[in-house]
Amino acid sequence: MTKAFVHKALPAHVVFGRGTLGQVPQLLAELGKRALLVSTPDQAEEARTRLSGAEAIVAHFEGAVMHTPTDVTERALQVLHASGADCLVAFGGGSTIGLAKALALRTGLPQLAIPTTYAGSEMTPILGQTEDGRKTTLRADAVLPRTVLYDVDLTLGLPAGLSGTSGINAMAHAVEGLYSQNVSPVMALIAERGVELLAGALPRIASDPANVDARSEALEGAWLCGTVLGSAGMALHHKLCHTLGGSLGLPHAETHAVVLPHALAYNAPFIQEAYRRLGAVLGGDPAQRIFDLGRQVQAPASLRELGMAGADIEDAAAQAVENPYWNPRPIEPGEIRGLIARAWAGDRPVS
Ligand code: NAD
Repeated sequence: MTKAFVHKALPAHVVFGRGTLGQVPQLLAELGKRALLVSTPDQAEEARTRLSGAEAIVAHFEGAVMHTPTDVTERALQVLHASGADCLVAFGGGSTIGLAKALALRTGLPQLAIPTTYAGSEMTPILGQTEDGRKTTLRADAVLPRTVLYDVDLTLGLPAGLSGTSGINAMAHAVEGLYSQNVSPVMALIAERGVELLAGALPRIASDPANVDARSEALEGAWLCGTVLGSAGMALHHKLCHTLGGSLGLPHAETHAVVLPHALAYNAPFIQEAYRRLGAVLGGDPAQRIFDLGRQVQAPASLRELGMAGADIEDAAAQAVENPYWNPRPIEPGEIRGLIARAWAGDRPVS
């Protein structure tokens, strides 16, 4: 019998393809008359050049950084007010999109998101912000971008290493969505397809980062996985990554890439249906296949490589079991400690 479910879809206007950037002027005209562009310092020049045809862009804040610190948002707000902008354009990865969301939360302005990584934030009403070193996460309709424009061409230059880790970060949304408490049959289909597309594309991107077909499939997969993140609740894997990122400052996408096979293996005995479906699209034991995928795309294998000290394992394990998210398998502190120790060492996951 079909499990009881509730399906609630978020509004979405998504434009996907190659060369879609040419549509920015008309998409912006649907949102407002004067736009503030946001980017990281790294992508400032590219954002300006690529969007030079969009005359509605009247100002550019190029200070977006990871984890949306509120002091950066305050500085961006000043630029926004001085510019008289009535809409926002985010050009970049999850950090840039996070800043535009933080501005939308404070002003109610509509956003056009132009993602250049596979993180998926553009499809969610979720915003994580950092204040005094503490990260808090909220869900609010006001932060969901009104329009999302995917242009495959923008991902051709995403470095091979970041492509692999960002792609596995995207898969993590779909993997946890597939066994989430509130997954609907539609979201499960989207999650499966997202995992399938990314698993097929990422190794091809690792060997040829300019492979347009693989880039297109990966970006489509990232869109699907972001859609799942926007609708389904996340579990142990995301809790572990938030703990490790928040308390130890470990990098976002890389941490996801290391932890996912271990978190999935921990949950495996309690998620038979999701595990079977993942196995069908991954072509084998899902936790082991995702571990192998990490090696194929040269993602870091261990938390040690990301700069975590062995002495931090105990603390990280203690924090990870505090205020746990809902999880299909009860949280067993000793097992969680073992999981983190294996992820730290770069060992294979143990189901
Ligand atoms: P990022 O946005 O921090 O980007 C990493 C670096 O890569 C930056 O310097 C960026 O300028 C550069 N970059 C991005 N795209 C590039 C490209 N195509 N070519 C060359 N360089 C490029 O990294 P991310 O992993 O996309 O985002 C991580 C952040 O997003 C974290 O803060 C995370 O919490 C957040 N996030 C939020 C959600 C959500 O739903 N709220 C979802 C996923 C991630």
